Amino acid sequence: MADESGTPSPMARKLGQYTPVRLTADLSGLSEKERRMLPLLIQAAQEMDTIFWRQVYSPRDSLLGAIGDPGMRRYVLINYGPWDRLDGNRAFVSGVGARPPGAEFYPRDMSKDEFKRAAGASSAAGNALRGLYTLVRRDSAGGLRAVPYHEAFAEPSRRAAAKLREAAALAEDPGLRRYLELRARALETDDYQASDLAWLDMKRNPIDVVIGPIETYDDELFGYKAAHEAYVLIKDREWSDRLARYAALLPALQRGLPVPEAYKREKPGADSDLNAYDAVYYTGQSNAGSKTIAINLPNDEQVQLKKGTRRLQLKNAMRAKFDKILVPIAEELIADDQQSHIDFDAFFANVMFHEVAHGLGVKNTINRRGTVREALKEQAGALEEGKADVLGLYMVTRLQQQGELADADLDDNYVTYLAGIFRSIRFGASSAHGRANAAQFSFFEERGAFARDSAGGRYRVDVPKMRAAVDALAEQILRLQGDGDYAAASRFLAERAVVSPAVQRDLDRLGSRGIPVDIIFEQGVDVLGLGK
Ligand code: ZN
Repeated sequence: MADESGTPSPMARKLGQYTPVRLTADLSGLSEKERRMLPLLIQAAQEMDTIFWRQVYSPRDSLLGAIGDPGMRRYVLINYGPWDRLDGNRAFVSGVGARPPGAEFYPRDMSKDEFKRAAGASSAAGNALRGLYTLVRRDSAGGLRAVPYHEAFAEPSRRAAAKLREAAALAEDPGLRRYLELRARALETDDYQASDLAWLDMKRNPIDVVIGPIETYDDELFGYKAAHEAYVLIKDREWSDRLARYAALLPALQRGLPVPEAYKREKPGADSDLNAYDAVYYTGQSNAGSKTIAINLPNDEQVQLKKGTRRLQLKNAMRAKFDKILVPIAEELIADDQQSHIDFDAFFANVMFHEVAHGLGVKNTINRRGTVREALKEQAGALEEGKADVLGLYMVTRLQQQGELADADLDDNYVTYLAGIFRSIRFGASSAHGRANAAQFSFFEERGAFARDSAGGRYRVDVPKMRAAVDALAEQILRLQGDGDYAAASRFLAERAVVSPAVQRDLDRLGSRGIPVDIIFEQGVDVLGLGK
């Protein structure tokens, strides 16, 4: 798409922010039955797409039908709606108006005050309206009522459950069979706890599926509502074994956090585990806009305190982002003499410890303000991502000092981390990760953790200063979370999560060099060679 002068059209430029990647994996280690499970899991995952659309834009088909430009239609599909997830959710289809902060989770004409009054009517009403797994709708009298997801999305939930049960019948691993059966039931009841526990109990399954309403990023009004998504995954046994030993180090790392005792009193679950996978299918929230390369689940704080979490490193997606995005960014923005520190193993470690770090700190405020997530509302996501970033780097540093990462060069981790900040700021202010990285950048810059050479516009990390800045920022974020201080968290992000004009000019250079911001997937049974 170009006009006659050869300049790419605005829509072509937008599409150019994403580079396509084929999601493939080595299936040779799978049994015949496991190979037959994959298409069923993919079909179940596709139902999450149907539900997610209804959570973020409805009706999808009339939106797509009204757009003539195929490039714009494609961009709507990438964004799951007419608002650009890489551009602060700005509308790119004319006439649709601004994105409602509450997406389709709440009535569009509902104010925050109206919600608070309704939720304050009784504790039962409040719990239902604030629920992770309910939509808020108007009742016949114009008031607000909660509609459980399994009723609002009854049909696609039932279809997904049926596919999960078919897959369960083929499962040879008893843990996987049990999980799939319980997950099917959960989609029909909105009670996910038993399936979350079963998911953490299964250890030897070669294939996995993460499916259901999980992340709350799309509810920008309150951050209460989970959006549907799915990942279909093949475990990488060899890399998983390499990662297994880090999970055991969590309790000691929690004790060493740079905050007073009260902010680290919770114990991270002892049997938390860490595994590497190749992803073969993404749908719903996980497939909207920028793509996740690592996950830490489940989000249920009760399950986390009881059994810890599982961290999933999505190796093929990670490798694609490193090769196609991080390396070209570093070539443009990192000083020549630090180029040699851009390294995939360091990138993998940074992302891995980011995920591990989600398990550190506290899930509950230390002053009876409930969970951190409830207390910090829509600020919770960006702050939690910022915490995971800086604590991840803190952990790499401590482990290396303790000799646990003997072959790692910390300079690689720090320089690759800075290149990673540039990569993530480009996700924009509508992404929790984008905001978290902009905040880190401003904090680190103020502390002299890196310097920009004004002639070439390249950045050089000062490792000792960055190390000190990481500890200081970790402490600040852990305190905001433990205190559940919504006003201070809002102020922190409003002041910090801002990209300065100078940095924006450097980031713009990446765009004009054609360096993509993120990846989109060519995926499915045909890509996997499982088609008929
Ligand atoms: Zn994270």
